[in-house]
Amino acid sequence: MSKSTKDIKCSFCGAGKVDSLMLIAGLDAHICDKCVAQANDILAEELTQKKGKSLAGGFTLLKPIEIKNHIDQYVIGQDNAKKVLAVAVYNHYKRLNHKVGKDEVEIEKSNIMMVGETGTGKTLLAKTIAKILNVPFCICDATVLTEAGYVGEDVESILTRLLQAADYDVTAAERGIVYIDEVDKVARKSDNPSITRDVSGEGVQQALLKILEGTIVNVPPQGGRKHPDQKMIPVNTNNILFICGGAFDGIEKKIANRLRTQTVGYKFRAEETDIDLNNLYKYITPQDLKAFGMIPELIGRVPVITHLNPLDRDTLLNILTVPRNSLVKQYQKLFEYEGIKLEFDIDVFAFIVDKAMEYKLGARGLRSICESIMIDAMFEVPSQKDTKNLLIDMAYAKEKFEKSDIRKLKVA
Ligand code: ADP
Repeated sequence: MSKSTKDIKCSFCGAGKVDSLMLIAGLDAHICDKCVAQANDILAEELTQKKGKSLAGGFTLLKPIEIKNHIDQYVIGQDNAKKVLAVAVYNHYKRLNHKVGKDEVEIEKSNIMMVGETGTGKTLLAKTIAKILNVPFCICDATVLTEAGYVGEDVESILTRLLQAADYDVTAAERGIVYIDEVDKVARKSDNPSITRDVSGEGVQQALLKILEGTIVNVPPQGGRKHPDQKMIPVNTNNILFICGGAFDGIEKKIANRLRTQTVGYKFRAEETDIDLNNLYKYITPQDLKAFGMIPELIGRVPVITHLNPLDRDTLLNILTVPRNSLVKQYQKLFEYEGIKLEFDIDVFAFIVDKAMEYKLGARGLRSICESIMIDAMFEVPSQKDTKNLLIDMAYAKEKFEKSDIRKLKVA
């Protein structure tokens, strides 16, 4: 016998039809709108907790050597930076996983500074690390930042990006990683305190201090100042790992000065001291960053400094072919989707690298050079039904390269 509508009750709280907005029928039961809302809250809370645990807990499985092995698949060379990053990130998450008792030693956060010429893999390293950790990650450019109240972006916008990367899950964002690129561009403009404020230099460094150290920052979820009515989200930056990167153009001179050498001028007798004059970055210390214009308080909050080596010919050759998603493998994959086997003569790789060196384009240039060689093939081959194999030999590569606009890029 079926129940009359009057007798129907919520099977969870017992509320009848009159007490609730809606009663949803199941196979043998009913549920009211209030119980649905409550169940939804319980579920959301449980999921957030689980996610938080897996973000911190999942990481401990990866030891520094394992982290480095993983990065090795994507980034060529730069062993020093890889090691330093792997250890710093590992310690950071170890610190996250152990709640510190009252009398215990508190491990300080280890934000990282990566110094190296542009295009040597700083961003790639940070991205690769973030990928294996499975935590929210964002890249910000320090050049767009200005002191609050001036044209440009406030420093808090960095955390807006992180929140967006975490899908506005604050717990996840609070364990995330932020890569601040071009941090050298916020160096103090001059040593003399002048009447004009240095709003995009020292002003930004001062503003960065508080978020780097660990504090609760009110973050505008939509970013910027265009939405003055938005409700701020408090984010605790205590467990956010900041990785800063910059080319610090000209810092070699400061390092050289400190080492009592000169990069220009009279000849330094390298054989007497074993100093590698081709790569002065590797002798970098906090003192040099200070001489460059970074304020001591900021340097203090980024205690781990590492350097990236300039890319030589062999490294470029490896970048082209070895990484898991190397350029060559990417082109081969693209053609494989069309059912075409793409192959290169081995000397074509050397040709591409030589051109990148000659044009002083570094690793970024490899892509443009490959593109100039491959564009015609990518345009025509998909329409050629019979093509099953494609060999890029030296004559083909040279011809396409000579025809392309990229030659105009040559740096005198
Ligand atoms: P940076 O941040 O130092 O200016 P990027 O990390 O953006 O340089 O590097 C630019 C591109 O050059 C990367 O996307 C990558 O394809 C390539 N690249 C640079 N250095 C390396 C490296 N050591 N190993 C593999 N690829 C590299």
